[in-house]
Amino acid sequence: CGIVGYIGDGQATPILLEGLKRLEYRGYDSAGVALYEDGKLQIRKTKGRLTALEDLIKRECVAGSVGIGHTRWATHGEPSDINAHPHVNSKGTIAVVHNGIIENYMYLKERLQQEGYKFVSDTDTEVIAQLIDYFYKGDILDAVINAVSRLEGSYALAILSTYEPDKVIAVRRDSPLIVGLGEDGNYLASDIPAILKHTRNVYILEDGEIAVLTRDKVTVLDSLGKEIKKEVFEVKWDV
Ligand code: GLU
Repeated sequence: CGIVGYIGDGQATPILLEGLKRLEYRGYDSAGVALYEDGKLQIRKTKGRLTALEDLIKRECVAGSVGIGHTRWATHGEPSDINAHPHVNSKGTIAVVHNGIIENYMYLKERLQQEGYKFVSDTDTEVIAQLIDYFYKGDILDAVINAVSRLEGSYALAILSTYEPDKVIAVRRDSPLIVGLGEDGNYLASDIPAILKHTRNVYILEDGEIAVLTRDKVTVLDSLGKEIKKEVFEVKWDV
């Protein structure tokens, strides 16, 4: 339901939590974050309010300057800690948060199970993490492009991987997603209020577009991976 992402010089956790709070008005049943720390993905997620996620993070600290966060409104699989996002591939190297519904997830799940993939959640989203893993042959962007070309339905996705931890990849179809261009780093969100505190300069992603965020640059590509020149949109209003 709500997506926030950050890569920059600052600490990601407070930025993600504060951004998710700004999206609370949309409603949700669980929340979570993934950060890259010391060569690993650190996942903290829980059923319930953002305060429950904050308490969890206080108990089990996590630091890092790159991360993705999510508030979930369950469509596939009951609200639970396991079904909360982020979802990861079995190796724990690719984390995904997702807004929307993958219509052909059962078909994809069965195909991946035949290939030996084991699933832990009841969500449509976990299929995306495993599918990116399936297509990963040394280039995470290629794997994402291949995976999303197999998806039917609606999605806004933020992806973080230990394979290339210096980037956050974003892609959307029939679910909104914007990129915020900041001074101290770059931001991602499903809606502008989440990041307005940090920047007013945004890229509004169109259907099929992919954004690759690094600390000091954002590249936008079409669904085949060809670079697109995007106009910067300046947000004039306040929240
Ligand atoms: N379909 C996904 C799920 O049920 C995402 C729901 C959402 O948009 O929050 O986990």
